[in-house]
Amino acid sequence: MKKEKTTAAQKGKLKKALAQIADVLGSEHVSMESTDLINYTRCLYSRSQLLMRKCETYPPPDMVAWPENTEQVSAVLKIANALNIPVTPYGAGSGVCGGAIPLTGGITLDLKRLNKIKSIDEKSLLVTVQAGMIGEVFERELNSAGYSLGHFPSSIYTSSVGGWLAARSAGQLSTKYGKIEDMAVAIQAVLPDGSIITTKTTPRSSSGPDLKQMIIGSEGTLAVITEAVLKIHRLPEKRIFQGWKFKSVPDALKAIRLVMRTDVLPAVVRLYDEIDTALTMTALGYEASGSLLIIAFEGATGMTELEASVVERICIDEGGESLGPEAGEHWWKHRYDISYNQSKILANDGMLLDTIEVATVWSNLFNLYESMRKALEPFGTVLAHFSHVYREGGSIYYTIIANDDEKKVVKHYDEMWKAAMDACIAADGAISHHHGIGILKAPWMKDELGALFDVYKKIKNNLDPNNILNPGKLGL
Ligand SMILES: Cc1cc2nc3c(=O)[nH]c(=O)nc-3n(C[C@H](O)[C@H](O)[C@H](O)COP(=O)(O)OP(=O)(O)OC[C@H]3O[C@@H](n4cnc5c(N)ncnc54)[C@H](O)[C@@H]3O)c2cc1C
Repeated sequence: MKKEKTTAAQKGKLKKALAQIADVLGSEHVSMESTDLINYTRCLYSRSQLLMRKCETYPPPDMVAWPENTEQVSAVLKIANALNIPVTPYGAGSGVCGGAIPLTGGITLDLKRLNKIKSIDEKSLLVTVQAGMIGEVFERELNSAGYSLGHFPSSIYTSSVGGWLAARSAGQLSTKYGKIEDMAVAIQAVLPDGSIITTKTTPRSSSGPDLKQMIIGSEGTLAVITEAVLKIHRLPEKRIFQGWKFKSVPDALKAIRLVMRTDVLPAVVRLYDEIDTALTMTALGYEASGSLLIIAFEGATGMTELEASVVERICIDEGGESLGPEAGEHWWKHRYDISYNQSKILANDGMLLDTIEVATVWSNLFNLYESMRKALEPFGTVLAHFSHVYREGGSIYYTIIANDDEKKVVKHYDEMWKAAMDACIAADGAISHHHGIGILKAPWMKDELGALFDVYKKIKNNLDPNNILNPGKLGL
């Protein structure tokens, strides 16, 4: 899907929209200035950064609007729907799949002014927060009230609550606290025609299907999320770290699987394969070899000590060599350093770097790991870790670093992704565990969803007959 040349009629529509949006938001909160528009041609999608190196970009939007509440989001969508202008929701632009890139121009709806905690219900342990709030600021404000969300994506400094919900984000402590969709008790969102929906704040409900979960993960194709009610936790009394060295990935995976069977819920479980152990831990300033497993527990003192002792027994029985707490403590201190260093690599001509996160059940996990590793190896250095585990399986997170002639690097990138996704589908893995689909993985959506892809399309066509909301994403 490509942006076409703006005709005189479209220019007229845009002028009309600009005036109407300025009336509602104030003229300082809507812009058609090229210096504003150029910022929205990219997100942290590696391909958009490779293009930037060649001074090329994806299409800019025609207009950026900065609403400050749900009603203003609704007003903008009503205007856009009436004039048939595409709208792309934009959280903080840390998405790595191109979801926030306005492929067909139109209005980019930047939600950064919806940036407040509205209330904390201390009895029910719930927070109501606006969707544009940046993760780190949100967590800091919760901490000062004695609480934590328990959601720590590596992009916490540069991602928003709405972006997390839109892409089903996972944080580093997901084994204990769940992914963002597990934390969402209710949402408020605006549909493409501007109508506002608010789901009921209730611990559970059996009143029909869970439509909140249909909007969560829809990456701005079905609705714009403006608020959420999320579960919070009291700050932990104690945190315990364990580091284990295993001879091989299968040995360590077995130990983790047995831990997850006990119903003990460590906060962090991170297993690095041999290459990731050597490269990542060295980059973080900690020398390690073999397959490094970091496990952390947090919560009430007695409970964490008990959990740690159960896990210790299993790791010893499965051949793990204890490294004490240092590896985990070191990782905890430097856990946000690595991701932000990736852009330094991408700044160099010929260099390519990306991450791929997939998931499957325990009975298929090693097979998926090997299949994708073999498919990716011809394209560069492949490292992998397993950092989100469940009783029934887990995710695999590959990092690929490569270089090529600068002229060929985008082709190299596209071929690498095709090999990876084809291998994932062939091995029956889920093509995304927490980064979402965007434009990057859209070609594989039909294979991923099967007959459900048509169901998704029907829902989209009904909710958004003019196809104004984030067109061209998720294969729609
Ligand atoms: C260095 C780095 C580390 C990362 N680490 C993690 C990690 O640990 N875990 C993880 O899950 N992800 C991670 N990511 C990916 C990214 O941060 C997540 O996908 C995040 O959820 C995106 O949030 P955002 O606010 O930046 O969204 P954006 O990039 O702005 O948008 C992402 C998608 O959501 C849509 N969207 C945004 N806000 C809304 C809204 N309010 N309503 C409807 N649709 C909306 C956009 O249209 C787009 O399709 C990482 C990315 C980077 C660059």
